[in-house]
Amino acid sequence: MATERPGPSRRPPMVNIQALIDDARCFQAVRAMRWPDGVRCPGCASAEVTKDGHDDTQPERQRSQGRGCRKRFDDLTDTVFAGHHQPLRVWVLCLYFLGLNLSDEQIAQELGIDPDDAQVMASQRREGIVRRTPAVALSGEVECDEVYVVAGHKGRPGAGAKKGDPAGDGG
Ligand SMILES: [Zn+2]
Repeated sequence: MATERPGPSRRPPMVNIQALIDDARCFQAVRAMRWPDGVRCPGCASAEVTKDGHDDTQPERQRSQGRGCRKRFDDLTDTVFAGHHQPLRVWVLCLYFLGLNLSDEQIAQELGIDPDDAQVMASQRREGIVRRTPAVALSGEVECDEVYVVAGHKGRPGAGAKKGDPAGDGG
């Protein structure tokens, strides 16, 4: 009954998991993770925020503005997901694979990203998805996403040595 296909080196078709993931759900998930009690301004922590349209290239990415401090921000501002050129769903999947204890290399291969990026995401995940705000208050608008990412790369030359936690963190 079953017809054998010629060519033993032929691999079965891969499922492209990225294509199955809904962008809207990803942004929804990030909002729920960082703001479990509703959107708050990352500048002054106030819940008094006004919706301010959506990102030009990512229609599901909500932009907002703090009413008091006038800070403009969006779903990904100050998160580990900001400053990457891949879509959010890649990083959500990356977090998912990290939860399954896949190696950085496996994740990078699966998602078509740089293994360094997967490693950065792995190390950041321990700190939570929202970056710590610096102790010194910065005045004016300062873009520091790129700086954080670069610092993460260079600052951890031997970070690849640690693989897999022996003690589970239980969530
Ligand atoms: Zn504010």
